[in-house]
Amino acid sequence: MAGPRKYLLPEERIPERWYNIQAHMPNPALPPLHPATREPIGPEALEPLFPQALIEQEVTREEWVEIPEAVREIYKLWRPTPLYRARNLEKALDTPAKIFYKYEGVSPAGSHKPNTAVPQAYYNAQAGVKRITTETGAGQWGSALALACKMMGLGCEVYMVRISFDQKPYRKLMMQTWGAEVIPSPSNRTAAGRQILAADPDSPGSLGIAISEAVERAAADEATKYSLGSVLNHVLLHQTVIGQEAVEQMEMAGERPDVVIAPFGGGSNFAGLAFPFLRQNLTQGTDIRCLAMEPASCPKLTRGEFRYDFGDTIGMTPLLPMYTLGHNFVPAKIHAGGLRYHGAGVLVSQLLKDKLIDAEAVDQLETFQAGVLFAQTEGIIPAPEANHAVAGAVKQARQAREEGRARTILFNLCGHGHFDMAAYEAYFGGRLERHELTEAEIARSLAGLDAPKV
Ligand SMILES: *Cc1c(COP(=O)(O)O)cnc(C)c1O
Repeated sequence: MAGPRKYLLPEERIPERWYNIQAHMPNPALPPLHPATREPIGPEALEPLFPQALIEQEVTREEWVEIPEAVREIYKLWRPTPLYRARNLEKALDTPAKIFYKYEGVSPAGSHKPNTAVPQAYYNAQAGVKRITTETGAGQWGSALALACKMMGLGCEVYMVRISFDQKPYRKLMMQTWGAEVIPSPSNRTAAGRQILAADPDSPGSLGIAISEAVERAAADEATKYSLGSVLNHVLLHQTVIGQEAVEQMEMAGERPDVVIAPFGGGSNFAGLAFPFLRQNLTQGTDIRCLAMEPASCPKLTRGEFRYDFGDTIGMTPLLPMYTLGHNFVPAKIHAGGLRYHGAGVLVSQLLKDKLIDAEAVDQLETFQAGVLFAQTEGIIPAPEANHAVAGAVKQARQAREEGRARTILFNLCGHGHFDMAAYEAYFGGRLERHELTEAEIARSLAGLDAPKV
């Protein structure tokens, strides 16, 4: 008798509150600085872009923030998400370790991102906003926000990097199916876009340009606001439904994880799974290791510097205290698009600095090896980003076997890979490359920064 494979919670166990790690951080995060004056700025500086409720969530130190009933109602479409025991993977690895994973790919958009898209759309609708703008690269965030806006009766304007718009039609079509307007960026709707197009009518675009366009539109119109899918405190807060459910499901399984693992882009799915476990470390004295897995080609946590830097490539956002490779850092074109961001969220950065969480970098070839093994044992084909967590779990399980010791591993399978099969094609075709960044490349990128060090 092998025992249970999955742990399911009933609908009424969807969390009623989000967990705010700011209540328990021994060192609070440093304040953001104004991009020009370099003086600390207060939350009111965000008012042109975000509704009041989200700005309050950005700075609150309250331990719990109530989830509005209308948001829980929509969460019911895919939450609570299942937690699985990866018994076949354990067998394939011949490990004494127990491996569990939380599966966020059951959301309509196929990832964890709707967990924050829905409350963001809700608070905007409550504030009388009519339309939300955002940028998207490959389209994961854009599709989550398109879904959420439709559910909350808002318009959605997505600036999609031109080259992805042309080359990745399926996520664009998902956004359009959910009623969003998808605009290839650079566009002639904004001064920023027109300026780029004047210099290069065939510009392939970039995330930085798309951000400028989305922000410009929001800043220019009272009824239009802007939305971000990672990095910011309120985004990390919303994602804690993942970890709260997982705490309860691990109790159902009669286990406590020794290590909790998640892939790391800006920090939202990592925080979502890890923060409720970290809460136990901070309030109950447990010693659960929280491990962020980042790509070796974009290693801000393991090889970046903790300092003030811009959130965007252009230098328009406030300066944030974070682990960064420098806002001009251009990562290699690895196939986990969601992990190519140059910096890390402020909360996660402070926690890493205080050694309350850990990080490791992994090469993309190793992540696809692990992801294919996972697909062939557990069935689900992970998103390339999620493969980083799978690789982390496989490494932990192999260590447990070498040491001949039990270990309980929990990781975040934050999305499925159904729209990323071109990346698997590249892997099978031998076209994925190892990519090790040199110290000189990192030093060069960081040398370009003139914002204060901390
Ligand atoms: C966006 C995305 C990520 C990276 O973002 P985080 O904020 O670090 O979670 C990782 N995995 C998937 C599936 C994504 O869509």
